Amino acid sequence: MQTGNYSINEPSMSKLFDNLAEKGKTMYAPKNRGERILFQKVEKFGEIAGDYLLTANSAKEVVFPRYEKVFSYKKTQDGILINDPTGNPFSEVVLWGSRPCDAAAFIPMTNTFEKDYIDNLYVKRRKNLLVLSFSCNTCDEFCFCTSVNGGPGNTAGSDILFTRLQTGDFLAEIITEKGKKVVEENSSLFEASTAEGKEQSLAKVEPRFNQDEIQAKLQELFENPLWAEKSRACLGCGTCAYICPVCSCFDIQDEAHGSQGTRLRCWDSCGFSLFTLHTSGHNPRPDQGTRWRQRILHKFRYMPDKSKIAGCVGCGRCSRSCPAGINILDTVTAL
Ligand code: SF4
Ligand code: SF4
Repeated sequence: MQTGNYSINEPSMSKLFDNLAEKGKTMYAPKNRGERILFQKVEKFGEIAGDYLLTANSAKEVVFPRYEKVFSYKKTQDGILINDPTGNPFSEVVLWGSRPCDAAAFIPMTNTFEKDYIDNLYVKRRKNLLVLSFSCNTCDEFCFCTSVNGGPGNTAGSDILFTRLQTGDFLAEIITEKGKKVVEENSSLFEASTAEGKEQSLAKVEPRFNQDEIQAKLQELFENPLWAEKSRACLGCGTCAYICPVCSCFDIQDEAHGSQGTRLRCWDSCGFSLFTLHTSGHNPRPDQGTRWRQRILHKFRYMPDKSKIAGCVGCGRCSRSCPAGINILDTVTAL
């Protein structure tokens, strides 16, 4: 669904931010922390980083926190009391400054959490999330969104996509009803426009591989020396999964104290040696090679086989941040 194009200038953009913040919404945007730029809570427009390609972390934390309470319980004389957090109100969140790959990642995430099993914690957060993305005017050698059905001006997953035009103003493409409501409530800040000038303003991200070909090849490459070869330097640190906007594996931890306790879910990573370790001591993925294979197969074969959506949006974060210099693009193009 696309519900219209508008233009908005820089001072009005700042006003739009203030208007949304004044309504009590929790604002997340790219913000400097030391030398890095991270999605963080921000209160003022001036706190937002001015010049960034991508944040070091992904935006998934706004819908899938790194750890959260699933429920808590307490034994009383009358029985067991369960406290279910999905009964609490969820705050309205605005994700400001996501890139098209960040926004596109909510599609496979939603497929994971809202398809076979409806995960109410995710559903409620996603429902309250407004995604205001900005097209990419630049890219680097780690970007490969165009190889996984994305692009620097892709609108999938965003409510509004802004593109800074060569005139200095922004094109605002309204993608969803939520985005339309923002324009209606702030109509004095927007002017009707066409999408003219968008393409010239976008970064040029050359396609590096064909997703369908990779998916087909992976059917035959389960046993292959490539997996050990490409993962030899892997430290099993889990960084690649923690910063990936699509990775959504989690572990369940129970913290019990006497007659009460809490069940938590915490991010997990297929790079960890404990990942899928059985109680018997057997691990079906006993080394980094088989764990790396799982990572690639999950993203480029199992997820597209099941739902026609790849588990990778080509943001390149995992390759930029891997302390061992492992580059996912290097493995996929080698295939
Ligand atoms: S970030 Fe690199 S070293 Fe760490 S688990 Fe991932 S591939 Fe291995
Ligand atoms: S696997 Fe790497 S490139 Fe793909 S979405 Fe995750 S972090 Fe980005």
